[in-house]
Order: sequence, then C-alpha cells, then structure tokens
Amino acid sequence: MKMGRFIVDTHVHAQRFAAGKAFKEKKIDTDKASYNDLALAIRGLVAYDNSPRLIYDMDCYDVDMCVLLPAFGMSNEMNAELVEQHPDKFVAVCSAMETAKKSRMGEEPWTIEAAAKEVDKLLATGKFVGIGEGVPNDTMRRKTMSQTERLDQMRVIMDVARKHETVVQVHSGVVMGYPLTHHNWPETLHPMWISDLAVEYRDVPIVINHGGIQGWWTERFYEEALLVAASNDNVYLETGLWWAELYRKALIDPNIGAEKLMWACDWGASIPFHSQPGNYPSSYAVQIRSKKLVKHQVDVWGWSLKQLLKLECTQDDLNLVLGGTAARIYKLTVPHSRLFRPVGKELNPQEEGRIDVAPTCC
Ligand SMILES: [Zn+2]
Repeated sequence: MKMGRFIVDTHVHAQRFAAGKAFKEKKIDTDKASYNDLALAIRGLVAYDNSPRLIYDMDCYDVDMCVLLPAFGMSNEMNAELVEQHPDKFVAVCSAMETAKKSRMGEEPWTIEAAAKEVDKLLATGKFVGIGEGVPNDTMRRKTMSQTERLDQMRVIMDVARKHETVVQVHSGVVMGYPLTHHNWPETLHPMWISDLAVEYRDVPIVINHGGIQGWWTERFYEEALLVAASNDNVYLETGLWWAELYRKALIDPNIGAEKLMWACDWGASIPFHSQPGNYPSSYAVQIRSKKLVKHQVDVWGWSLKQLLKLECTQDDLNLVLGGTAARIYKLTVPHSRLFRPVGKELNPQEEGRIDVAPTCC
C-alpha cells in the first residue's frame, strides 16, 4: 500500500562518487579507508549521475517527487539537468558550489559575498526552488568561528533568499564518521542559533535540514530544532531520519504539527543504519568509525517508511508530512487541489470564499 497520496522526499542527493580512483591516487586501501579519508577525497572528485538508482527506488517505494540537493563536490548544473529531463519527478535547490571549488583549488579565497553572488545568479535562472543543503560555508577554514561571525555570514544569504522570495535550508546534526567542528558550519551543532534569523527574516521560510537528527541517537539537536520550529511560524523541519518516537512529540505539539514537518531522508548519502533491538531507539542512522565504508546504496526509504507505519496520527496528517507541507513550501505542482488538509493562515487565496462541502448523506 502506498503510504500517502503524494509522496515527496525533500532531501535527496542524485549524485554519487566513485571514490576508488581517488583512494588509489592517495595510496589509501579502499577497505581500510576511514570516513575522514572519504570526506577529504570526495571534495576533489567529480560526482556522477546516480538518477537511475534513484528512479528505481522511487518506483519501489511509490515516491512521486524528490527535492534534489547539492552537497560537497556535487554540481548545481547536473541537478538542473535532471529537473529538465524529469520535471514531474524533480525540483532542485542550489548552493555556491563553484565558489567552494575555486577556494579548494586555490584559485580564489572563499568569501560569503562571492557565495551570495553565485546563489543569486542561480536563483535568477528560475531553475531552483531554494538554497541548500545548508547555508554556504568556507569548507577550507580551520579556525573556530564565533556565533556572531557565522550569523553575519548567514544574513548575507538570507538577504538573497528574501530578494528571490525563496526557501533557505540550514544544516543540523552529525553523522559520527568524521568530526563536525566550529570551523565553518557551526550552526550544525547549534540549531538554536537559527532563532535570531527566523525572527529577523519572518518572511523567509527556513527549513532545518535533518530536524536535528542526521545520524546518531542523541536528541539534543532535535530538541533545539523543535524549539525553533515551535516558536517561529516560518521554520520547518526535515524528518526522514527520525525514528517513530521523534515524530510523536512533534506531531502532538500544537505549535508544530504535521504542517511544519517534511519527510526528507538524505537519500544518496548512504549513511548506514545501526540496529539494537530491545533498546531505544531500536535502530538509527550512524556511521560506525571502526567499520568499513558502505559501498552499496543504503535503503533509507524502506527504513523510514516503516517508522511512519508505527505512528497513530490521521492519514491527513501523514499526507502533510509525506508531501503536503513540501508542496506548499517548495511550491510543487500536485495532481489535484484539496488533497491536503488546509493549513492555518495559508489558505490558497483563489480558494478562499469558495466552500466545497462534501455531502453528508452518502
Ligand atoms: Zn544531505
């Protein structure tokens, strides 16, 4: 049975890396490579189009659409091409990938102004529905960054989003294979920092990537993400790597609810799952540092949909989590109007005043 009327994964990587050659060049045995080796190696690799596997999985699990995200080493162009080839299946967000590449190659130092200029240009093409994954950052920086310095950088990108009336994704969470630091993406360890931006930019929708849980079992970042979403109308949470219990708390909170949640599984990142039956949670995504790198395409959709099966919410709520909220925030084309429970103040103005009432007699 299909789990919802219109299913959208809002966090998908359709590009993948063949890391073997890079390991060979660096004289690293692939079987002995660590996640840190991988993180460093893929920055210099060219990603390939992994959409055949993605479309196969979309068929398997009845996923109607995906929001494509670039991550380090991936290109906006390849995602834009995929959107052009499959406009019914994909939309894409963009990030400052060329600015990052030039800094990595030693061609131009990274600045937030250069990143903003690149994102501005990409959004002006009309080919992208937002900015992500995360807010652009100087991946080469190795010096602790203060909260004030980082928020000032992020404000430059928020201004670009405001200009284009689009969505900004802010990254949260950890995966454990490689340490995340305060050098360049400190907000990933501090979702509460988003509060200031949410208040200053009430007109800009902010999506917290991973809703605090990218990997590992701590709920610390999740709790912070909930707080920001509950106290700001313009903040939304990605949920795909949440285990069932985490949905419950967000769904029953009257300041969050299904209208602020979006299914988003990081498909393509291939974060492995650890299972520990009888414990809490019984399984979760995490990279295990002592184990070999995962070579297969980890089946995140099967895992995540099974978590949703455990929920006792209404199907109308589940439909919002699985696609309705995404359709509203990323302005997706859906097959029909009135598929989703109307949400708060955001009724479609064209539909206001036209009251369709289902017949009660039959
Ligand atoms: Zn991702």
